[in-house]
Amino acid sequence: MPEYEGTIIRPPSEAESLILQYTIGCSHNECIFCPAYKQKLFRIRSIEEMEKDILDCAPAFNDTRRVFLADGDALSAPQQDILTLFALLRRYFSRLRRIGMYANTRSILDKSVDELSRLREQGLGILYLGVESGDDTLLAWMQKGVTAEETMEASRRVKKAGIKLSVTVLLGIGGSTGSIQHARATGKLLTEIEPDYVGALTTMVVRGTPLYLLQESGNFTMPDSFAILNELAEMIEHTEMRGLFFANHASNYMPLQVRMPLQREETITMIREFVRKGDPSFLKPERLRRL
Ligand code: SF4
Repeated sequence: MPEYEGTIIRPPSEAESLILQYTIGCSHNECIFCPAYKQKLFRIRSIEEMEKDILDCAPAFNDTRRVFLADGDALSAPQQDILTLFALLRRYFSRLRRIGMYANTRSILDKSVDELSRLREQGLGILYLGVESGDDTLLAWMQKGVTAEETMEASRRVKKAGIKLSVTVLLGIGGSTGSIQHARATGKLLTEIEPDYVGALTTMVVRGTPLYLLQESGNFTMPDSFAILNELAEMIEHTEMRGLFFANHASNYMPLQVRMPLQREETITMIREFVRKGDPSFLKPERLRRL
């Protein structure tokens, strides 16, 4: 088995995949809400280290069809190194069908459409991108390090290269005052991006993060659970896309999976009805929400 360094995070849809740790931590690591890789100094592991991991697990996992490359931002590795790694994966896992990894807007923009297409030809099937919000003021405030326009361009390259794009957005990050503006701007950005999958997570204010300090000092207030639902309805209302819009993460108050655009209108109506009734017994209790 490969030796993992620290906690491994992967998208829910990679639950059945073989996880190999190509990077340690996140190349950005500054988003004020994110506790994920605070203990890790970012580095890209060498091809020799990766080959050792692959050799260690190939006998037990020779049937592997999907590999997910952790940690935060494996796409930030040099193009040629990624291609060498993909060739090794294909050599040792002859049934491999898809390689997935997290990316951020910067690491996508560092690659051309041709480079991304080459990665797709060699096995890259899906990229997971944390979009969080379409509101530039909010993106700057949360120290995301990119603008909505840059994320739009990065997504365009991914789609043009024929790679599936799964993005996450963050309910509640606009706080109680910026909730609706965040929802509308994010829906607008999702419409431009046209991702294959959207995952709407609800912000968890985690001790030790700058967001926690802002909350403690009274400079950030999470919207309450019904305001979050209202924000979700508003976001879906402003999103026009074909694909799946998930809001069934462990952090969410109400699990939802919406096939867009088919179930869009009925979902908005259903959420608004819940908000109107204001009955908390249908919502996940605060103590059961998880990252
Ligand atoms: S949200 Fe993503 S980009 Fe931001 S610090 Fe966390 S892992 Fe890195």
